Amino acid sequence: MSMRDLRAKGSVACLLALTSMSMAPPAHAADLLIENVTIVSPERTRPLAGQSVLVRDGRIAQIGAAIKAPPGVAKLSGRGKFLTPGLMDSHVHLTTPPGLPLRTNDPTIGPLIDAFNRQQPRSYLYFGVTQVLDPAQVGNSLEMFEAQPQHPDLFRCGAAPVLDGYPTVFVDRAARYSAMPDYLYEPANAQQHPLPQDAKAQDHTPETIVDRIAASGAICVKVFIEDGFGPAAIWPVPSKDTLLRVRAAAHKRGLVLLAHANSLDMQRLALDARVDVLVHGLWNWDEADAKSGMPAVIAAHLRRIRDARVGYQPTLRVMAGTADLFRADTLEDPTYAKVVPTALLAWYASDAGQWFKREMKRDFGDLSDGRIASLQLQVGERGMRAVHHLHELGHPLLLGSDTPSAPTYGNQPGYDTYRELRLLAHSGVPLDAIFRAATLNNARQFHLEKEYGTVTIGKIANLLLLDADPLQSVQAWSRIDKVILRGTVIERDSLAADRK
Ligand SMILES: [Zn+2]
Repeated sequence: MSMRDLRAKGSVACLLALTSMSMAPPAHAADLLIENVTIVSPERTRPLAGQSVLVRDGRIAQIGAAIKAPPGVAKLSGRGKFLTPGLMDSHVHLTTPPGLPLRTNDPTIGPLIDAFNRQQPRSYLYFGVTQVLDPAQVGNSLEMFEAQPQHPDLFRCGAAPVLDGYPTVFVDRAARYSAMPDYLYEPANAQQHPLPQDAKAQDHTPETIVDRIAASGAICVKVFIEDGFGPAAIWPVPSKDTLLRVRAAAHKRGLVLLAHANSLDMQRLALDARVDVLVHGLWNWDEADAKSGMPAVIAAHLRRIRDARVGYQPTLRVMAGTADLFRADTLEDPTYAKVVPTALLAWYASDAGQWFKREMKRDFGDLSDGRIASLQLQVGERGMRAVHHLHELGHPLLLGSDTPSAPTYGNQPGYDTYRELRLLAHSGVPLDAIFRAATLNNARQFHLEKEYGTVTIGKIANLLLLDADPLQSVQAWSRIDKVILRGTVIERDSLAADRK
């Protein structure tokens, strides 16, 4: 079995469709004075102690050493604490609950999905994620996300798969075209993949697709460059010419172009087409199998990413999240109780809840669970080497956890964002670079810098009050005292799935 097969299992999640929806208006704003706090913000060279921050109408209004509380403004002591911007996770899938089957007649599943949908936004906030970007969705449940009383600010892309290509290859032909209606017709593939009978070519050009996506309120377009998970190239991919047209149309509309691509050949095509962001790291090194070090061909590719200034989401939790299915202690992790509804956690542990593990296990013959987990971590370790190397080349990173990247309960909202931060640290990326990846870099990449990414006057007051300095330890991102969402102070414990 090749490493590519292993890696592939972690990508099933991009089996996602698109639905249009509009952004809900901002949450109600409150006025607040945070006093005597140490500001840690990515544009500053060092933390700034003894500051007060005044929040008005959900935005940062004033920052200074001695601000008097205007009448009627609530005060919050920041003594001994650290104030940071809220985190942005720019790769989350909000419409596919982890570990649950996508299609089922089992009547016990519906209530579990409801419970998950109610908790999901809280779980992101519990880990300090105040902005999320969902690059591709299924069904209508983004509305469910925004309907919850407390939720991170939500951004989305429109998905533009190539006709009959990944990820629609997992949907049968009868449902495929309506499941992801903004598919690209690819003239270069016309012989094997002609348009369905009732479709018109002019409705599926790069320009018309991007127009529809822009009109839906999306801030980005996601294309999929994936010719197959095994060594065989079995799925159609968009041509470079089509991708360049998508890019031109997206940029004309002010949209960012994201590409799914995680093998060397597919990432090369993405770079040829000058996409803006690669939504996965590179861990598929079949061309340069090496147990350690950095093969020259991979190093050259990473330099090309750096030189072209392409956004890079390492998504290290993809392989780790499938490995977690094969660990006996995953569901005993006490943090699971904080982010997973109690009933869903019990269901994961049940025989029915083990369905995806059983499905994956079939591909591994009689290998033990421990062996399967370590094989997957071995693939993931390549991704860690790549991200470390890319950082050493001076390339800025983007935080994106790809939660959930497959129907595995090993990926959980919020917790995986935190675990992605930890894996970045474990890869050797320094804490200040991780901090920027999670805040300012994401804001800049998605043209949100005016509103988010730093503790700066005028920006939206999505902030975190931490008990520890995140430039001293990555664990500080789990030592959250309070989450401030557009000026509203939220106690972290009140966000927990097991709150009393
Ligand atoms: Zn994804």
